[in-house]
Parts: sequence; C-alpha cells; structure tokens
Amino acid sequence: MCGIIGYTGFRDAAPVLVEGLSKLEYRGYDSAGIALNTADGIKVYKKEGRLSVLADHLASKPVDGITVGLGHTRWATHGAPSDANSHPHTGRCGKVAIVHNGIIENYMELKAQLQGEGVCFASETDTEVAAQLIEKLYDGQPLATVARAYELLGGSFALGILFSDRPDELYAAKRDNPLIIGLGEKENFIASDIPAVLKYTKRYIVLEDGDMACITPDKVTVFNTKLEAVERPVQTALWDADAAEKGGYAHFMLKEMHEQPHTLRAVLNPRIKNGTPDFTGDGLNIDLISNASRLLLVACGSAMHAGLLGKNAFESIAGIPMDVELASEFRYRNPAISPGTVALIISQSGETADTLAALRMLKERGVPVVAIVNVVASTIAREADHVLYLYAGPEIAVATTKAFSSQAALLLLLAVGAANARGLLSPAQLEEYMEGFALLPVCVEDILANADRLMPSAKEIAKVDDAFFIGRCADYAAITEGSLKLKEISYIHSEAYAAGELKHGTISLITEGTPVIAVATQTAVYEKMASNIREVKARGANVTLICGAGAAAMESFSDHIIRLLPIPDLFLSNAAVVVMQMMAYYAAVERGCDVDKPRNLTKSVTVE
Ligand code: GLU
Repeated sequence: MCGIIGYTGFRDAAPVLVEGLSKLEYRGYDSAGIALNTADGIKVYKKEGRLSVLADHLASKPVDGITVGLGHTRWATHGAPSDANSHPHTGRCGKVAIVHNGIIENYMELKAQLQGEGVCFASETDTEVAAQLIEKLYDGQPLATVARAYELLGGSFALGILFSDRPDELYAAKRDNPLIIGLGEKENFIASDIPAVLKYTKRYIVLEDGDMACITPDKVTVFNTKLEAVERPVQTALWDADAAEKGGYAHFMLKEMHEQPHTLRAVLNPRIKNGTPDFTGDGLNIDLISNASRLLLVACGSAMHAGLLGKNAFESIAGIPMDVELASEFRYRNPAISPGTVALIISQSGETADTLAALRMLKERGVPVVAIVNVVASTIAREADHVLYLYAGPEIAVATTKAFSSQAALLLLLAVGAANARGLLSPAQLEEYMEGFALLPVCVEDILANADRLMPSAKEIAKVDDAFFIGRCADYAAITEGSLKLKEISYIHSEAYAAGELKHGTISLITEGTPVIAVATQTAVYEKMASNIREVKARGANVTLICGAGAAAMESFSDHIIRLLPIPDLFLSNAAVVVMQMMAYYAAVERGCDVDKPRNLTKSVTVE
C-alpha cells in the first residue's frame, strides 16, 4: 500500500522525493504529496491523482534550495482519494508533518479525544490523527515524542516525520509495515522499498518492528521504544537502478514478462547440483519437507495460485498431502493443524500483511515455516525459520508475472527434491524432471518470441465483458492465475473453472461468441478436456486452446491454437500461465488500460 520516502542531505529534496515516489507508485496512486522543511516552516504540496499531477503542480512552484523533506504516494484506506486526504498530513500549527503507510486502528477513539481538546481536523484520514497527536505531544524532544506516540497509536504504521524546528532531521517509526533507511554519503533516505533509493545508494538497513530512527545527512541512529540505541545490519542491494527502469519496453509488465527465461534460471539453477535439487545453499535440508506428514501453504492472490500449482506437484509426485490456504481466511479461523505439518509461506514483497500474520500464528503454534520471498531481508524473510529467495529482481508492474513464475517453479523444484528424498523417483524419472527444469525457460522463450500468434485471440477477448478459462488438474491451478491476470489489468470479468465442473452451473453463461480459454497440457486428461471443449463449442463458445503436443483432436475443433514446446507435463501448466499473462497484457493494451497501474489495485498489500 502507500509508498513513503524521506530525504535529508545536500541535494534539492523535491526532485529527489518525486523521483523516489516514481519508483513507489506501484504501491498506490490515488494521490501524491511532499513536505519540505523550509526556513519559513513546513511547506506541503499534495494533489489527488497520479504522481504526474503533483509533478506538474510543483513545476509552477519553485521549491529549490530545500534539502530535507518527505514524500508519499497513496492507496487510500481511510477517506476517499482527494487533495485534503492526501499525505503528508500536518498538525494544526504545522509544527509536524508525517507520511504514513498502514492503518491507525484506534484512530476514531484518538480523534474524539483530540477533538474534545479542541483540535480541528482537515481530512478524514486515520493518518491525520497521528500527525495531530504527535504535534500535541511534542515538547521539543522529537524522539521521546515519537516513542510516546508509538505507545498510543494502535494498528500498523511506517511513519516518516518532520519537526519544523529540526531543520536537517528526519524521524521514522515502524510497526508491521516496511521501512528501510538508505545510507548515502552526506545524505540519507527513508523509503518503503529499495528501488526508491537505488539511484543514490545500494546500502540500506531494514527497520524492525518497534524501531524508531533519527536521520540526519551524516548520521543514522536507530532506537527501540525504550529509546535505547540498537544496531541493524547494513544490507547491499543486489540490483542496480536500471533494474527498476523500463529498459525500452512499453510497460514494466511487458519487460517483466520478458525477463522470465532469465528469472526462471536465476531461481532454479543455483539450486540444482549434481543433477538433483539441492537447497543446502539456502540452509534448508530437504528432509524437513520430505518428512512432513502434511504441507500447509499459506499465501494471498497470485502467490496462492502458485501454491495450487505446487500442491499438484507435491501430491502427484512426492505423495505429500498439501493444503493451500488464503492467508486472510486462515489467520482468523482457528484452523486445525495436524502434527508433523510443515508450512510454506509465499510473498513477493515479504511484507504482505495477512501472510505475515499467518506466519506469526504458525510460529506460535510451533509449526516450522519455510518462506519463499523475493525481497531480501523483508519481514517475512527475517521471521521465517528458513527462507528461499526468488532472486527475480524488482517487480514494478502491479500485476505479478516474473515473481509468480519463479514461485511456481521453485515449488516444483521443492516437490521434485522431496520426491527424490523419499526415494519415489527412478533415475530416468529424475532425469526427465531435471531436464524439464532446463526446458521450462526455453519453452517460455518460445512463447515470448512468438507473441504474435496470441494477438487474434487477445483482440477478440478485448471486445467482450466476460470470458471463461477451463482446465483440469495442474491446468486448473494455472487458469486461476490466468483468469486473475485478465481481470486485474483489462477489467474483463472472467471465471476460472475446473473443466469438469462447468456443466454444474456455469455453462449456462456460455453463449454465441463467448471466449473460452481452454488449457489442455496434461496428457492424462486430454480426452476429458476434449469432451469439455466440445461441450462449450456446442453452446457457441469461441475457444482458444493452449495445449501441449499430441492434442490434434482438440486442435481440430478449437478456434485459436497456442501449442507449447514439448516439455514434460509437470512443467507445461507453468508455461501455460505465461501465455495467459501475455494474452491478458495484449487484451488490456487493446482496451487502452493503464497496464502497470490498474485501477484500485496496489502491489504490496501491507494493510488488511
Ligand atoms: N491509512 C492511510 C490512508 O488511508 C494509509 C493507507 C496505506 O498505507 O495504504 O491514507
């Protein structure tokens, strides 16, 4: 959700803040704003709408020579997107300005109290309550004030704070929302995510819950809530600034889809040694997973769909039962967890609020947790017992593509590793699967290189308001992600249906010309899929078939055919997702949608 940035140093702060926000817009784009600490007090500039609206507004208001400030790009939770509700928010006398990511859960109670004491509010946000509270508590001791506010504020927050009488200083506080401090030479930064500071520095520290910080151009000091100084290790980003640029592609999503052959190799190759999966480099003994009596995968959104692909592999080849749960449900429903369960937690950002809460609940119950995460040293990565990184580089487009394919591929590798550790694979089977890991990126390369063949179908889909995806077994898992991709970026309503289930109701929605994307890569159910495709054809559907080799019968009665390279079935459903990502992308482009920033969405869901 919201992106925050802060700067103190020797450069003009306004352009640094706006540039940083451009790297955080994936976290929200309802409004954007900056606050600058000037000799005449704190000046706030904020505008509803995209960052470009703020940038245009700033162009007409020169704000040169100010070297400390805060910036924010908002995904509204409390109060509609508007100029007034935009961050930064100030106290009533303008002595304090703050930017916030999170939700102040007790804001109504605090607001009533402050109103009782005569404080007037300018917005409907929970954040302004924190700003007014901090200003009210301020007694000239910024850190003690922040510590006092920390105790009084309920809920979650990453806060950046300016005090008007502290010209060079930035303050920060963190509970349950991510915040890093970028370490430069005679300049320092705070930010929600690393890409915001990469242009200036690769060195950063990650704040932990309960941390507060005082940041000047020359010094960063981190404190706990008792105001004792604490040390946090300095990390070095693995990416450079170019990784967070479009690099000539029309959209980040297109660039990230094209990175998939590379990111698949990056997640798989280091974990293949002597022709077998090997996770010792991650400090993980595969026995933890292969000896589990049950696996429990908890995640949200696309990460949960990757989990469904993983479930298919773990159950079919490793014989380990696996439940896949939505974190937002799992955490609140007092689930029964059987002895011997090992949990897998997936989050691209490593900060997803519900997934993090599920992880904490699992740990409290004594369940070993293996996390699959992209962002190094993120909260989930730090708190899990074991972490497997994706090494996919920054993913900027709101709709995930490369992180998803890496998560799904890593789960396959874990499943093959567990099957092998259980002695379930013959040497020939193991060899076939290991060859599959080498062929998967090649198959994806072929999909990307032949994107033209997807166009006729993408153009037809772009014209409708409803579409259907059907598939069986691993393909059913794959279409859950394909359907989500189409919905989130093109705003076309779509349903992912187990092909055999369609006739139990949904087939009534198939009429003349309804697009049906049929994924049929699993040879064991070819005949069943052929019947299901005939059923929808009989009702007038326009069928796009995504298939493996040997599906000639189905091809003969489908309208568009996307044939994948011949690789083992276990890998084909993963590859089919890339086809559906591309189809969703081209359908969205055809409809003129803002592909990288779909309406109402945000990438990193750090609020509930
Ligand atoms: N609750 C704050 C607001 O609505 C911040 C939201 C967020 O971090 O997503 O403005």
